[in-house]
Amino acid sequence: MLLSTVASSVVGCFITRSSRVRGIPDPSFFATSTKMALEQFTFGPYKIDSREVFYSTHLSYALVNLRPVVPGHVLVCPRREVKRFVDLTTDETSDLWIAAQKVGSRLETYHKASSLTLTIQDGPQAGQTVPHVHIHIIPRKGGDFEENDEIYDALDEKEKELKQKLDLDKDRKDRSLDEMAQEAEEYRKLFL
Ligand code: AMP
Repeated sequence: MLLSTVASSVVGCFITRSSRVRGIPDPSFFATSTKMALEQFTFGPYKIDSREVFYSTHLSYALVNLRPVVPGHVLVCPRREVKRFVDLTTDETSDLWIAAQKVGSRLETYHKASSLTLTIQDGPQAGQTVPHVHIHIIPRKGGDFEENDEIYDALDEKEKELKQKLDLDKDRKDRSLDEMAQEAEEYRKLFL
């Protein structure tokens, strides 16, 4: 996985934002971006580049997906590496779902969707491939899948492909870090 330095993340945010907006950029944008750039995030065995993270609280964070099944398919996780839903504390559980509610509603609007699938694959036999609790947030539109429940087949397919790729080459990603960082930057603006 590509790793970035804190400095390049912060500078990267500055250049991108200031080149788009004339005048002085909104200071809250830098405060949020800088804070997240200085933090460490892990997702199971993976170290997550802070540029992939677009929303965080003291207990949870939201990141863009390496292999989204539809536009806006993101993940909300507890900051603590916890494998199973039952192992979350009450505070982590409520914070996680409140974060999911907020992220889901913003992304539904952003992607002009009309529904959301929120799902947890809790344990390997339920389809969990990354042993770190995460809520899949999936904006849904009329006709996105022929049969509604095909969304679960789609999740399964993407994960099987991903596992094969990661087994072959741990550094290989379908989406580049740049693409994911750009998406996260767009989403970060929804929480200012
Ligand atoms: P699950 O099979 O329910 O455990 O879901 C795992 C999800 O994590 C899938 O949607 C993957 O595309 C996604 N994923 C796996 N590794 C990463 C990563 N390093 N960064 C972002 N998303 C990831």
